[in-house]
Amino acid sequence: MSKQLILALSKGRILDETLPLLADAGITPAEDLSKSRKLLFDTNLPDVKLVVIRATDVPTYVQLGAADLGIAGKDVLLEHGVEGLYEPLDLNIARCKLMTAGVSGLPPSHARRRVATKFVNVARRYYAEQGIQAEVIKLYGAMELAPLMNLADEIVDIVDTGNTLRANGMEPRELIAHISTRLVVNKAAMTMKHDRIKPLLARLDGAVKQRQAQLTE
Ligand code: AMP
Repeated sequence: MSKQLILALSKGRILDETLPLLADAGITPAEDLSKSRKLLFDTNLPDVKLVVIRATDVPTYVQLGAADLGIAGKDVLLEHGVEGLYEPLDLNIARCKLMTAGVSGLPPSHARRRVATKFVNVARRYYAEQGIQAEVIKLYGAMELAPLMNLADEIVDIVDTGNTLRANGMEPRELIAHISTRLVVNKAAMTMKHDRIKPLLARLDGAVKQRQAQLTE
């Protein structure tokens, strides 16, 4: 088994909040990630490498052991499932909510609902739990458009400020889950590479706690 630890990072919004947290934990990429087309990076720690991939691919890389650890949103983990993964740390960044939303002022229909989302597994589970019949339609983006175009009655999406919804004549309805970014670890790696993973977890845990302490000061 490789002596190196591979940490998979989610591209995009989460990355912008992850890099400062990693820096607080004493982990810095050897070069500027935003200025490179590379996907695999050395860090200041000789045994830690970073890969920067799509958020939705992070659980797959870690589950299958291509990466030992990963940083992914709880939304992605809820949708993907966490078999083969430990989720030891809430990094408390990129916080938002997974919600249902619909056209402003229009009451949700009691009949079978058409729901557009990229979170099809989460949506199917949620509506089944609520005892609401739902036809879940998979979309890859711009969910807010679906009710306006009469493709769906409701959407399941991430809401932060709610501005995107309001700008499209929609309003948040029910909260499905509070979301934040989590550290995940491959279960086998946690056992086999425990001596190297443990100090890395401690560094990250320290950085998260330090930030929380600063917030409550
Ligand atoms: P807002 O207009 O502030 O409610 O932001 C909503 C949009 O921003 C959503 O449709 C998401 O695509 C994106 N977004 C906001 N927060 C996050 C997050 N923590 N992780 C991923 N996407 C997010």
